[in-house]
Amino acid sequence: MKKRLFLPLLAAALLSSCKNNSADECSFYAMDTYITLKAYGDGAAQANEEAQKKIKELSSELDPYVEGSAIQSLNLNGKADTAGEVRGLIEASVGLSERTSDVFDITILPLKKLWGFDTGVLYIPSAQEIAQAQSLIGSDRILISESGQIELGEGQKIDPGAVAKGYACDVVKKIYADRGVESAILSLGGNVMAIGQGPDKSSWSVGISDPEGGTDYLCVLSVTDKCVVTSGNYRRYLTDDEGRRYGHIIDPESGRPAESDIVSATVICESGTVADALSTAVFVMGSEKAIDFYKNSDDIDIILYLSDGRLLASEGIAGQISATKTVIQTIKH
Ligand code: ADP
Ligand code: MG
Repeated sequence: MKKRLFLPLLAAALLSSCKNNSADECSFYAMDTYITLKAYGDGAAQANEEAQKKIKELSSELDPYVEGSAIQSLNLNGKADTAGEVRGLIEASVGLSERTSDVFDITILPLKKLWGFDTGVLYIPSAQEIAQAQSLIGSDRILISESGQIELGEGQKIDPGAVAKGYACDVVKKIYADRGVESAILSLGGNVMAIGQGPDKSSWSVGISDPEGGTDYLCVLSVTDKCVVTSGNYRRYLTDDEGRRYGHIIDPESGRPAESDIVSATVICESGTVADALSTAVFVMGSEKAIDFYKNSDDIDIILYLSDGRLLASEGIAGQISATKTVIQTIKH
């Protein structure tokens, strides 16, 4: 889900603070979205250059549709020797499937394909076709050896689309840390990673898109050292002849596009990987299960915008929210 990073208000704040702080900013297209990196202080330009290169590299390595990419060859051969980031991403994803009782699952590709989300041409499958694709889903069948060899279960194919951008945020955060950059903000579509404090030693402001309004925000969050990730079905969906919408987030249990009472699900936590995977998972869960899931977690905050118009925020973030579209109801831990 695409989200604007800088509010007019924030842009003004950044501009005024730039007088005393050297900022380096770059924007480019990768991972199927617009990306902006803004870093402050000595080493910012070099760190951004390295970060941009790394994101572009991850963008092709992790894309199952890029010829010769690590994920494509793993999908074709059923196994691959992996190292570094590709292995790290798959290992983390398998753990997050377990954490979400398989609501989030990177072996989703057969279902994604079946419904036509890879080509953009909607196909309504039969119950039998759904069951057949579902039989291939389950990241507990992925074997990861000590040496780094990854072996998929028979016929399995992976698509890291729900976690790749958040994972890239964590990789870039490490690049900044290695280069001594303590203050930076990056936006990768619906993923915003705020590193350290803002350049004027204040929090970063991050706006969450209003699903109903082009340039409006649902609310604005004030954060430091957090990744804020929003998922929803309001921008990426296919439509049938009667105008019914089929969103790109799939419920592995039903094998169908998730029918959620959540319009927009935001997860806030230190890890980009966790925030990204869990924002997708929370969307699929629907509000009741999502609130239980939050109550059983100690590393996340959530913001849910529901189809009945309610805006819910967990207590760890509720006090840091301003400019809300509607009154916020606090979710207690
Ligand atoms: P976006 O990538 O648009 O920011 P998400 O992070 O929510 O949104 O990821 C959605 C993408 O993840 C889908 O386009 C699809 O490729 C994949 N996906 C869909 N459903 C699931 C699921 N239940 N678990 C894991 N990945 C999924
Ligand atoms: Mg996600």
